Amino acid sequence: GEGLPKPEQTRVMVVANQKGGVGKTTSTVNLAASLALHGARVLVIDLDPQGNASTALGIDHHAEVPSIYDVLIDSKPLSDVVQPVRDVEGLFCAPATIDLAGAEIELVSLVARESRLQRAIQAYEQPLDYVLIDCPPSLGLLTVNAMVAGQEVLIPIQCEYYALEGLGQLLRNVELVRGHLNPELHVSTILLTMYDGRTRLASQVAEEVRSHFAKEVLKTSIPRSVRISEAPSYGQTVLTYDPSSSGSLSYLEAAREIALRGAGVFYDAQHAHAVD
Ligand code: ADP
Ligand code: MG
Repeated sequence: GEGLPKPEQTRVMVVANQKGGVGKTTSTVNLAASLALHGARVLVIDLDPQGNASTALGIDHHAEVPSIYDVLIDSKPLSDVVQPVRDVEGLFCAPATIDLAGAEIELVSLVARESRLQRAIQAYEQPLDYVLIDCPPSLGLLTVNAMVAGQEVLIPIQCEYYALEGLGQLLRNVELVRGHLNPELHVSTILLTMYDGRTRLASQVAEEVRSHFAKEVLKTSIPRSVRISEAPSYGQTVLTYDPSSSGSLSYLEAAREIALRGAGVFYDAQHAHAVD
């Protein structure tokens, strides 16, 4: 994984979809690990009180651990809570603890309540190529903080019935944040997850998504894979849990596509199909 272009400035990508179970956390941690394996420096910010991204990266996040809650609510510097991820050089995580469940309400009465994460990232002094923010399954103040902090929204879509339900509301929220709080924000990337090309429904949904979002949908889709779903219980991404699995190869390829697109380099789709 050498030779991928590095972004000129840190790309802050908000992984959002208010539906649960569509592959936000799985895509956040596996894309982040893939980008790091491709040579980038990557920070995952776990913004879901469930702390699933922290768990999947093998990061301690019991209640006493300094976490993104302290950053958002008590203005603790981000560098005080960031931990390196074992086994993947260049990959870091700001964990979420259960405290974060209350942050949605605590934020309401704080000054600059929508831009606290943005400020924390801007004050972070370590060089980073990518920040990936794993959002909770809602469009509340935590997700708004992520959208104010980022330039790009990455939407994972599970290829099943009702896949597009709620997407309109998500896109309207992106427009609202763009119009009022962050003119840079845009949906740059849509990733089809848990894709099973053998079922007619999955290929119909994929076709429909591609027809609506021709530019945004990655050519690489992520197959349904047992290895992907097993990895988190070992505190690992699929990239270290089973490096040669189809799930691992598809995330590496999706990350390559993201890096190349960001640099404006044409992406050769033949590779994408090889790992479907
Ligand atoms: P979200 O963060 O959107 O709620 P998750 O990433 O936690 O979604 O994924 C929901 C469930 O689906 C998890 O149990 C996860 O392990 C599983 N999963 C995600 N992607 C895949 C995949 N490509 N193949 C198999 N299982 C997957
Ligand atoms: Mg999640």
